[in-house]
Amino acid sequence: MDNNFTLNNFGHLIDVKNVPIKNLILSSRDEALYNVVQKVLEDSIAQYHFNQEIQRIIKNNHPEELDALEYFINKCSCDKQENVLEFICDLFELTSIQHFLNSRWKIDLTERIYKNFSRNQNLMSPIAKRNALTAVNRFKSRLAPNFSLVARHEISRLSENDKNFIIKKVGKISEEIIGEFINTLVPVEKKWDWKEYAYFLVKWYKDLNPLEDAINVVKLGKDLGIKIIVKEFETENFDACLVRDKTLKSPIVFINSFKKSRGRINFSIAHELAHAILPHHAQSTFFCFLDDVTESNKFVMNRKLENEANAFASYVLLPDKIFKEEISKLNYTIKNVNTLSKKYNSSLVLVAKKWVEQSNLEIAMIFSTNGVIDWATTSENFPFSWVDYIASTSTVFKVIESQERKIKKQRVSSTNWFNKDYPIYKIHEESYKIFDDKVLTLLQIIEDN
Ligand SMILES: [Zn+2]
Repeated sequence: MDNNFTLNNFGHLIDVKNVPIKNLILSSRDEALYNVVQKVLEDSIAQYHFNQEIQRIIKNNHPEELDALEYFINKCSCDKQENVLEFICDLFELTSIQHFLNSRWKIDLTERIYKNFSRNQNLMSPIAKRNALTAVNRFKSRLAPNFSLVARHEISRLSENDKNFIIKKVGKISEEIIGEFINTLVPVEKKWDWKEYAYFLVKWYKDLNPLEDAINVVKLGKDLGIKIIVKEFETENFDACLVRDKTLKSPIVFINSFKKSRGRINFSIAHELAHAILPHHAQSTFFCFLDDVTESNKFVMNRKLENEANAFASYVLLPDKIFKEEISKLNYTIKNVNTLSKKYNSSLVLVAKKWVEQSNLEIAMIFSTNGVIDWATTSENFPFSWVDYIASTSTVFKVIESQERKIKKQRVSSTNWFNKDYPIYKIHEESYKIFDDKVLTLLQIIEDN
């Protein structure tokens, strides 16, 4: 009957003979057939038949058909045509569809529906927009919050007060009515890597705020519709976390500001934004104990995604091109690292690390605690491949011993730092106590010995 209905009424639109409604639904990857769908759905009786057919597909429970159906529903909710949106809003009212999408989209369920609708908000009629907002609100109101799942594994490490704060806050936000769509949509259909996303966001932000030197990550998050909550938590070694929940229209970022510098807080925010934005981070659960840019994170669940988020954060705070221009005009000194750190609201360590990564000079940086090297990095042209131990005559010990936070510098032989088998150079060495016993040291080769 469906077959006849389609052919009798819309046969002239379909090139291929004998295309029943079921095939139209399951073949929505085919643009020509999807165009037919858009046209056919102008008719309310056709909408009814589509509706029935979709429920049959769900009942039949064939994996391939379910995949195709998911694609179809996703595509329809990204449509800008009022009739298609009307159809999809009605569809979202059905319990079977709610169950189906719930099983498919899981943790970012509401987020996906909301983003799909947002995609075309500027092209939608006011009625379509209002209906879409109503549909997403009704949809999410029927879901039970389960955000604790997101941080389930590590949430036990938080103090009771901190845990309750997060649970309460997420619960409150998930109950809020969604009153508008977001303007900034990060593309999802293209196969971008983290850098392309970071580049896109930096460019977008710069276009909107041409007079700002640095990217304000709090503002960026807000524009992306992501809630960022910065607070002094009780749990000291807790840095930040990202909460996703199927009832939330966007992830929520919690940042611990206790004993943290502005630069470090900003890095944590940018890092969490990566988890929020990068599409392949959406299904993963995160609970980060970041140690700023060091590689020694112990509680990390997925090393690859964590590295991506760190690289993303470093790029967003200090965009490659702009940063390269900055360092081309400056000498590699603690004073200048400090200047750039202030200008770009980033930590000294991040600026120094990025400087080393981007520079053509023969430079290195060392981050040490109480005279022991935590980690070190060298520029591409640096002739020594590793940094070993710290000599007792080093500026590192001079700043530790000093009561004041002063920069100590000296010229030393490369043998102070590196294996004597290497050629010997004169090195300019500069150290600065960041806090307590943590010291940042810069090395630069100045001449042949
Ligand atoms: Zn992370």
